[in-house]
Amino acid sequence: MSGLAAARRIVVKVGSALLVGADGTADSHWLHAFAADVARVRARGQQVLVVSSGAVALGRRRLSLAKRSLTMPEKQAAAAAGQSALMRAWEEAFEPHHLACAQVLLTRDDTEVRRRWLNARATVDTLLSLGVIPVINENDTVVTEEIRYGDNDRLAARVAQMIGADVLVLLSDVDGLYTADPRRDPNARHIDRVARLTPEIEAMAGGANTGAGMGTGGMATKLAAALIASAAGCATVITLGHRPSPLAALEAGERATVIEPSTTPAAAYKAWIAGSLAPAGALVVDDGAAAAVRKGKSLLAAGVRRVEGRFDKGDAVVIQGEDGAEIARGLTRYDAADAGRICGLKSDAIEPALGYTAGPVVHADDLALAQVRHSG
Ligand code: GLU
Repeated sequence: MSGLAAARRIVVKVGSALLVGADGTADSHWLHAFAADVARVRARGQQVLVVSSGAVALGRRRLSLAKRSLTMPEKQAAAAAGQSALMRAWEEAFEPHHLACAQVLLTRDDTEVRRRWLNARATVDTLLSLGVIPVINENDTVVTEEIRYGDNDRLAARVAQMIGADVLVLLSDVDGLYTADPRRDPNARHIDRVARLTPEIEAMAGGANTGAGMGTGGMATKLAAALIASAAGCATVITLGHRPSPLAALEAGERATVIEPSTTPAAAYKAWIAGSLAPAGALVVDDGAAAAVRKGKSLLAAGVRRVEGRFDKGDAVVIQGEDGAEIARGLTRYDAADAGRICGLKSDAIEPALGYTAGPVVHADDLALAQVRHSG
């Protein structure tokens, strides 16, 4: 069981080898069939994000750079020329299903620097709530070697983590993980399910590395991606992408390797807020707000008495009672100066005071209560 049918949010990574044909142009036949597959899943109320490679491969042909290995600036030029061709191909594929798609180009900082992460997450959340299919790629044109994800398997895992996906599907040219390289070793056995990624499992990826010509990711990068996803509460499914409807095939029980998550997305997120971020300041709240936060409600400006420390929008802060006791930690939607200005204000008075509103000071989704801090 891939868990696909029950998932709320699904990230599907599509590699260059699937959507760029041997002639260097987009394989519209495959793309149309895949778009129908996505539309079917979407129609059941599930949210789908596509992480799509192919910009460099398509750009090579556009710029007549097909035959040789590229320098970094040439690769970036090819990505710039190819990304628009890539989006055109996706738009044409989704159009018959009346699905809009939207281009999202990310760099590693967008998923690792918290403020940018929050912005990217808010944009992607909004796209999903509008029924749009985000089509995500690395912003190859501007990244430098040091700040690249480098492969879209890892990018897809970071996206899955960022948006709290339940399932990450890595469409590949192999139908999963084997105990050894199946092309060389007749005794290689397929592994259906991995409960936990151990060094032994990772060692298997070395032999079964696909060495595909066009994409950058082999089995080792797929397992590195699965490790990120697992810790974020997301299952990873590695399966063949070449068939026309790979998602339907998965649901029908086609061969795949499922790597199980080690937690739930919500618990992983709360543990991250509670444990991995050094708080930059504190919000001192009244008893009413303290009680609301303990019940899992958002922290409203009306209940904030005082702001301590210096922090930016998106930073982790401690929420504490007037006696100084820690109630929770959370990510603030206002910097310290603005939070100070709206202390005690009702929600509809925030905009007149600041000229904008970002809603509650800390949203319930971004809160981790003190007593659950060390779980997960
Ligand atoms: N971002 C690259 C592209 O669009 C592909 C990277 C990868 O396939 O892992 O061509």
